[in-house]
Amino acid sequence: MPGGTPPADGTLAPMLRALLLAPPGAGKGTQGEQLAQVYRVPHLATGDLLRQNVAEATPLGQEAKGFMDRGELVPDRLVVDMILHRIAGEEPLAGFVLDGFPRTLTQARQSYDWGKAKGRTFHAVISLRVPEDELVRRLLERGRSSGRSDDNEETIRNRLRVYSEHTEPLLDFYRGRDILVEVDGTGPVPDVTARIVDALLPLAFP
Ligand code: ADP
Repeated sequence: MPGGTPPADGTLAPMLRALLLAPPGAGKGTQGEQLAQVYRVPHLATGDLLRQNVAEATPLGQEAKGFMDRGELVPDRLVVDMILHRIAGEEPLAGFVLDGFPRTLTQARQSYDWGKAKGRTFHAVISLRVPEDELVRRLLERGRSSGRSDDNEETIRNRLRVYSEHTEPLLDFYRGRDILVEVDGTGPVPDVTARIVDALLPLAFP
């Protein structure tokens, strides 16, 4: 069955496996939640899972906290274990929207190898395009209202640098696999969601 809008009654809803690949502040979390509702799949946000581990002071959280506060990437092995464990867990997930993973070429290659072996490769990689000054404005505003400790100007600049150095190269990796869709991430939230759903229409996912 081709991809696209699922039937209203939920029968035969396509099991989308997608990831959002975009800089901090582009709306990965917001759009991840919207897409999870549209396609009826879980939304897994690496940042949220990590922050939960930090809040619960798990060994993973204790190791990750310093990297997150500085706006650096948490080491690959920790993140890969956490995500693949979550996807592959007791009931392996057939569909999902990932946000914040993979974020390095190592993570992308490891998840591709894993997906190939398990029949769980990604159908679509959604890139949200937002100009940098708009990203900084959104993140500073979020920092004021949510109090997220990494939403301060210095850490924001570092996260944007880390994104362009380590994560942006993944766009070419997925473009080469013909699963990259690029969407304008500016404007009202429902408009961006509609653009993503439209962009997914031509892609096949069972
Ligand atoms: P944002 O996209 O705004 O930076 P996230 O909540 O996705 O917010 O990530 C917050 C922090 O969590 C990152 O700065 C990084 O330290 C860590 N993190 C999240 N995902 C990953 C990942 N896939 N690999 C390494 N570190 C990650």
